[in-house]
Amino acid sequence: LQRLRAGLSRSSSALGQNLTALIRKRKLDDETLQDLEDILIQADLGVETAVRITERLAKERYDKEIDDVELRTVLAQEIEAVLEPVAKPLAIDPAKSPHVILVVGVNGAGKTTTIGKLAAQFRREGRSVVLGAGDTFRAAAIEQLKIWGERTGATVVAREQGSDASALAFEALQQARAAQADVVMIDTAGRLQNRTELMAELEKIVRVIRKQDETAPHDVLLVLDATTGQNAMNQTEIFRQVCGVTGLAMTKLDGTARGGILVAIAAKHGLPVHVIGVGEGVDDLHPFTASEFARAIVG
Ligand code: GDP
Repeated sequence: LQRLRAGLSRSSSALGQNLTALIRKRKLDDETLQDLEDILIQADLGVETAVRITERLAKERYDKEIDDVELRTVLAQEIEAVLEPVAKPLAIDPAKSPHVILVVGVNGAGKTTTIGKLAAQFRREGRSVVLGAGDTFRAAAIEQLKIWGERTGATVVAREQGSDASALAFEALQQARAAQADVVMIDTAGRLQNRTELMAELEKIVRVIRKQDETAPHDVLLVLDATTGQNAMNQTEIFRQVCGVTGLAMTKLDGTARGGILVAIAAKHGLPVHVIGVGEGVDDLHPFTASEFARAIVG
């Protein structure tokens, strides 16, 4: 929790300072409630959640004095209620050999890094892991994945830059099946510039995966960069249309005051949130827990 708090400190201090300033010597009158709603919207929590929180406070505490601690408690409770239904660990099904995770998201969102961190976690749990370097557009992505492979003891299946991503995915799964690996994670290129191409590429990857295992991919993990705020919301909408996203990872919560966007996305999409990234290091990936996140974010 300490690490998570430290990681989320920029989100929580932005919201926290505003809350502290708001509540100093003030009653919960119309003006304060309106200001509170604005602060919550500004913290990227989403209009729906901001309105619900202020309405609850208006109903329970209108024109009464409220202190900092009480306000934060109510906020944390409401945020936790939004997040609780979506907080789900990434569960590896041991009956699948391998469990196939397709990792999608825009360039720079943190896909390769998240794959590396997850590989380390799965390896620690004693699982065998294969990584498919399916972001064949960027030589750096392929290299980075190979480095994660070396660090974690995961097998990396890669081809040269510019090769066909679906062929790579096919090969990665084939090798993983032959080796009876527990998990295979397939990286992808996230070029949003051309949505038709992106859709065609991801569809093709899914199609070749299903040729070998019609129940796969078992997870389609969308990686979102928290620093992009509302853009992360738009990306969720686009990727849900482009491929069947089954769950979310949100990265870079350490580098932003916009962590509240996770609450807005949860409220709007209801997709499982599996893990959150709070740094570049191998241990900076946490399972997502509603109560911890809610408490960390209100400061
Ligand atoms: P990809 O293009 O989606 O594969 O993104 P990368 O995995 O290459 O990540 C892009 C950059 O973001 C790299 O410099 C990563 O080290 C960095 N990054 C990824 N996750 C996090 C995180 O949780 N926190 C921080 N601060 N940086 C991150």
